[in-house]
Amino acid sequence: MQGTRQPTSPPAAYSPTDRTVPTRSADRASYDKELVHAILDEAYVCHLGFVRDGAPVVLPTLFARVGETLYVHGSTGSRPLRMTGEPDPGLPVCLTVTHVDALILARSAFHHSINYRSVVVFGRPRAVESEGEKNAALEAFTEHIMRGRWAEVRWPTPEELAATNVVALQLDEASAKVRTGPPIDDEEDYTLSVWAGVLPLRVEPGAPEADPRLPTGTPVPDYIADFDLSKRNLP
Ligand SMILES: Cc1cc2nc3c(=O)[nH]c(=O)nc-3n(C[C@H](O)[C@H](O)[C@H](O)COP(=O)(O)OP(=O)(O)OC[C@H]3O[C@@H](n4cnc5c(N)ncnc54)[C@H](O)[C@@H]3O)c2cc1C
Repeated sequence: MQGTRQPTSPPAAYSPTDRTVPTRSADRASYDKELVHAILDEAYVCHLGFVRDGAPVVLPTLFARVGETLYVHGSTGSRPLRMTGEPDPGLPVCLTVTHVDALILARSAFHHSINYRSVVVFGRPRAVESEGEKNAALEAFTEHIMRGRWAEVRWPTPEELAATNVVALQLDEASAKVRTGPPIDDEEDYTLSVWAGVLPLRVEPGAPEADPRLPTGTPVPDYIADFDLSKRNLP
């Protein structure tokens, strides 16, 4: 259209909506896409919430992000996936991920807390029908579990693809919330002689344990032996 400047790159933030602005500690909320992506990509598990037969249900499940799409998969018998993807667009869902970064040990019981990074996404997933997109989603799941794996393992057969339900949730209505820093005690409690501070927590990989049916002497690939959780999403 003449005289209209088209944006050259997508917006860097999700637009806040009535339901993505926290009532409390709104200063800890963010809509920055890079932050939302980073929190999602670091998580192995999301929690998928929806209303079933008039009551809320929240189920933990694996997921993967490709651009602005989140994929959730399961067997064709999986109830939440049958309900969320059909009819298209499916039921309203709320998907969350959470990282616990530290324990916040305050001087008072009341101010004990946790340092965290979390994301909340609202939307209506669509069922992924095309074999190409389903295959791409399965590649994303595999690479989300361990980068480098897809190139090495056997790829899904048409039968396996047919037996797999995949739903896609668009990242349109999303928020992140992050707490960092030390405890926030009541001013008069800072004189109490009780230790206060932050105890960082992190998830670390252990030593690889070979499958008992692996032929003896099969070497552990470098990308597994050298796996560094903190670098798993870096290019
Ligand atoms: C590990 C962990 C522990 C927590 N512990 C507590 C606790 O003990 N007590 C407590 O009050 N709060 C806790 N929170 C924060 C909690 O998730 C809510 O943010 C908080 O209760 C404020 O709710 P609200 O009434 O403002 O939310 P609402 O006003 O209902 O939130 C409105 C919208 O804001 C966004 N939003 C709210 N919270 C989050 C979030 N955490 N991440 C991303 N988007 C969000 C969502 O889009 C949501 O729909 C914790 C969070 C985490 C991750």
